[in-house]
Amino acid sequence: MNGFDPTPLGERTEAMIESLASISAEPDRLVRLYLTPEHKQAADLVAEWMRRVGLAVRMDAAATIHGLLPAGKDGPRSSRRLLVGSHIDTVIDAGKYDGPLGVIAGIIAVEELRARGIRLPFGLEILAFGDEEGARYPKTLIGSSTVAGALEPTTLELTDARGETVRNALLRFGCDPAAIPAEAYKRADVVGYLEVHIEQGPLLERWDEPLGSVTAIAAQSRHRVRITGEAGHAGTVPMAFRHDALAAAAEFIAMVEEVAGDNLVMTVGEISVSPGAVNVIPGSAVLSLDVRASSDEVRALAVESVRGRSRQIGARRGVVIGVETVHEKPVARCAPRLRGTIGAAIAGLTGRKPPELMSGAGHDGLAMAHLTDIGMIFVRCRAGISHNPLEHVTVADLGYAVEALIRTIVEIAREEDHA
Ligand SMILES: [Zn+2]
Repeated sequence: MNGFDPTPLGERTEAMIESLASISAEPDRLVRLYLTPEHKQAADLVAEWMRRVGLAVRMDAAATIHGLLPAGKDGPRSSRRLLVGSHIDTVIDAGKYDGPLGVIAGIIAVEELRARGIRLPFGLEILAFGDEEGARYPKTLIGSSTVAGALEPTTLELTDARGETVRNALLRFGCDPAAIPAEAYKRADVVGYLEVHIEQGPLLERWDEPLGSVTAIAAQSRHRVRITGEAGHAGTVPMAFRHDALAAAAEFIAMVEEVAGDNLVMTVGEISVSPGAVNVIPGSAVLSLDVRASSDEVRALAVESVRGRSRQIGARRGVVIGVETVHEKPVARCAPRLRGTIGAAIAGLTGRKPPELMSGAGHDGLAMAHLTDIGMIFVRCRAGISHNPLEHVTVADLGYAVEALIRTIVEIAREEDHA
């Protein structure tokens, strides 16, 4: 691939990924939740790495580690910063690349820029967010929402499984929750936000491409579907007289698969049935429905279609199907200018125009899009597996990812110089 050898950069990245992956709450699997002793240890290690490459380090009020490389030249934009980040928390029994890769790529990029004598016309700030996964509290993106000025104040009162609030856990971690509003960055001070992340899906592998440029983080909504029929005796009520809520649920699930399609995925992941007895016709059922799409319009149309076809199923079966929206996140589009820059950086490495793909998973970029333009580089991962210890990225692909980030930063700097 165009004479670039990804192995040295990839090996450095892999070594740091391994170091971070050794910090876990449990000896046999990777568990690193927000505001725990393991988070502290990981944050300390990241801070140490940041200092070693010459960054000025601080921890903010939501426990995000910031490492700043000041602008290398004076100019009208030298007080602004380009942000690069991802998260260092994990799910339970996690893989080691999801999150840490984006932070480590940023740190190595700083080291390489300095070693190559490249001076930037803006500051470069690496961010290690402490909560992206939402594995401890019923809330995701606490770190990035704080920087973006988008954290809902009620978040501080949420409790974990043991009843400890976010506020209290922050205080014990050494953070001042009262300072959270003041952590919000100003749009005018920021050049943009870049994130390197594993794809967590199978497409890059299928396409035989190490890297891709993300078009958008999917629009997402969650719904509670209540189906109300009529319970009855399993032996005495003839089939034609039944209003079976579970049979209607089965038809609902099959219908959802028909409505889904390109750039639109829908999942029924939970179901509960009442009364739930072997000899009773189900009287009611409650289902979850998760909808993700490449645009808000596609998502809204899909939900409308599900509602319309639910009414038909309900009318035919004599049951009532209600589809209630419990959570909605609009699409976060990656900025065209950053998509173009990332695409060119990857093409310079592979010699081909890179694929563009939607992110069906949420990322810190979702919160950062409230603040600034975002751009994301996706990295091929084996079989698309993530949130699992089998998560794997090759050393070569790690090297390509870090080099693509470096070249993206250099190109943004060049554009700024000519702006
Ligand atoms: Zn992640």
